[in-house]
Amino acid sequence: MRILYPFAKRFIAGENLETALKNIYKLNDNGYLCTIDVLGEDTHNPGQAENARDEYIALLKAIETHHMPLDLSLKLSQMGLSIDPALCRKNVEAVIDAAGQHTVRFDMEGSNLTQAILDMCLELHQPHSNLGIVVQAYLHRTEKDVATMIDKQISVRLCKGAYKEPADIAFQDMQAIRENFLKLAHPLLKEGHLPAIATHDETLIRHILQFIEKEKIAPETFYFELLYGVRRDLQKHLLDQGYQVRIYVPYGSAWLPYTLRRLAERKENILFVIKSLVQE
Ligand code: FAD
Repeated sequence: MRILYPFAKRFIAGENLETALKNIYKLNDNGYLCTIDVLGEDTHNPGQAENARDEYIALLKAIETHHMPLDLSLKLSQMGLSIDPALCRKNVEAVIDAAGQHTVRFDMEGSNLTQAILDMCLELHQPHSNLGIVVQAYLHRTEKDVATMIDKQISVRLCKGAYKEPADIAFQDMQAIRENFLKLAHPLLKEGHLPAIATHDETLIRHILQFIEKEKIAPETFYFELLYGVRRDLQKHLLDQGYQVRIYVPYGSAWLPYTLRRLAERKENILFVIKSLVQE
């Protein structure tokens, strides 16, 4: 699968911390905020889960003197959730402790883990803690989860959702997902704690911009969050308009599952890969 690396490079900031940091500093210098994801997921080996924990701690140590306002994004399946929730909790707590004021957000994964990820977040959350969560607009359950997170004032990143889910639990039609996204975004923007609107969908962004203008929502009370390497033009446009723009920056050697999800999102990406393989 190394053959896919030239494609992966567009979406990841490097295979190691040193390269990633150069890209993170560059983004910061250009006015973007960053959310860092150490790539890896679905670990079935306790040692690997501990290595992932240590990599996050090493990252925090490396930026200690730079006072960068960055967030961390964690996949609980990388921290050992599928092996043993107690081990996962221990690893996550170590990262949260090391993170200090930096927000630690749990990425949302496949629906087999949704409840366990939400439970871990609610369990570890304390008032004014630095914990955040992601919710997926394609899941029918998410309206209820958003209400819980607003009630607890836990920061939410709202995205469409990137996994293949069955019709009994998830909207399948893009229009229905968009409608639900907006239905969820409105209360988050009005009453949520520092929500992040995570999409590159211009129709959604246009609606959100109209909504915040109508409701007089201050730009410093929320983020637009976009993926590293996706729609840089849109990232810059939102930044130039005075919004807080966060870039989700993944790095590390376990880039394949993340890259395959990015590939699957757009048929142009798949065609691009096929074309480059044929040209080799
Ligand atoms: P789309 O309709 O898919 O895309 C809109 C436009 O954006 C496209 O027309 C295209 O121009 C561009 N675009 C989108 N994706 C690509 C791509 N891969 N390559 C090139 N161009 C592209 N999902 C989860 O399930 N859990 C998470 O924790 C999670 N975290 C995320 C964090 C951030 C910051 C973002 C932005 C997304 C996250 N996602 C997560 C992924 C999300 O669920 C979607 O799969 C992804 O964002 C694509 O949906 P979209 O809203 O951008 O709309």
